[in-house]
Amino acid sequence: SEDKPHQNLAVIGHVDHGKSTLVGRLLYETENVPEHVIEQHKEEAEEKGKGGFEFAYVMDNLAEERERGVTIDIAHQEFDTDEYYFTIVDCPGHRDFVKNMITGASQADNAVLVVAADDGVQPQTQEHVFLARTLGIDEMIIAVNKMDLVDYEEGRYEQTKDEVEDLLNQVRFDTDSVKYIPVSAFEGDNVASESENTPWYDGEILLEALNNLPEPSPPTDADLRLPIQDVYTISGIGTVPVGRVETGVLNTGDNVSFQPSDVSGEVKTIEMHHEEVPKAEPGDNVGFNVRGIGKDDIRRGDVCGPADDPPSVAETFQAQVVVMQHPSVITAGYTPVFHAHTAQVACTIESIDKKIDPASGETAEEDPDFIQSGDAAVVTVRPQKPLSIEPSSEIPELGSFAIRDMGQTIAAGKVLSVNER
Ligand code: GDP
Repeated sequence: SEDKPHQNLAVIGHVDHGKSTLVGRLLYETENVPEHVIEQHKEEAEEKGKGGFEFAYVMDNLAEERERGVTIDIAHQEFDTDEYYFTIVDCPGHRDFVKNMITGASQADNAVLVVAADDGVQPQTQEHVFLARTLGIDEMIIAVNKMDLVDYEEGRYEQTKDEVEDLLNQVRFDTDSVKYIPVSAFEGDNVASESENTPWYDGEILLEALNNLPEPSPPTDADLRLPIQDVYTISGIGTVPVGRVETGVLNTGDNVSFQPSDVSGEVKTIEMHHEEVPKAEPGDNVGFNVRGIGKDDIRRGDVCGPADDPPSVAETFQAQVVVMQHPSVITAGYTPVFHAHTAQVACTIESIDKKIDPASGETAEEDPDFIQSGDAAVVTVRPQKPLSIEPSSEIPELGSFAIRDMGQTIAAGKVLSVNER
């Protein structure tokens, strides 16, 4: 698996347009449906006296497992093409999808947008496209799904395609390399093999289009940043912070600093997949042990970095935000919870500096009194407790956040600059 580049793929689109079914179809066609799901399906099919291998059965088994909250989840599944290893990052519909998408817990390189031909562009289609654009998804493949429900009519495909094109133009998504593919996730048309039902279509099928995506931009060559997810005490070893390396390299022997807790020490051991390793790189989930650091010295939300280039801690920061949904208006003084990497900190929006035209990025109004749903703005933010965060231009992996209030994600943003403590 080390020989092919990796792609994190987001599958986005309005509820019920067929995202899960399409992911299931991709796993099925690339022979990546988990073995025990296939076994269970075979047993069921035999019991019912049905031979063969029906996709619907597999989907039922996947859905059932998902409902039971067991191992299988459409998100975090993997499949490969000739060129790439794909990991499906959170599917929308997942409770925390929007938040995860924004905070980088599941940063996607590229996306498949699923739009049902019988339903067209819907509110969540718009929301997800808007987010994809704001968060810098590079390429988008548009799966015009459920073609079987519109009798594989070219006209219905073209109509849906036009609607999506309008939407992409509205948010100024670069449409040059966007591909549109008429598919049926349920029937399998144009997913892994060319469909006889769409003789009018001669473009790439979905797996081809995925295979032909450009390689994701390499991770930044920034210094080590490792947000801490949890801190354990393990007998015989001591304090073990765990987390995922976002940028840089963690080596044994390194002198590291945890911010904002502001403690430092030497890395003694690093463990990955229950094995000791000499170093960890971006994407690696590790537990490690640092000389002289106790369980209460550090916590979730800290960021580990080199002692000679410690993670930034913000007194205030300026950010560009996009308001997705808020029942009323947002004014200076508003103090919701910001979710950035593994940290959750109440932050006050100290000032709303300017309103921006979300499409062009140009200033629409200086010092507005308020912002509301659909607005983009530059704001100055004051964390109510120390928060480690970085300018998105320097370390994008640590430079974005979601704003949550009343159980929903109300806005997303990127850090423009940090005024350090
Ligand atoms: P999600 O909410 O976007 O993940 O949508 P699902 O994958 O759960 O699909 C919603 C419903 O649409 C389910 O009943 C699927 O069986 C059905 N569905 C999905 N794709 C297709 C398709 O290509 N054709 C037809 N006829 N039904 C589909």
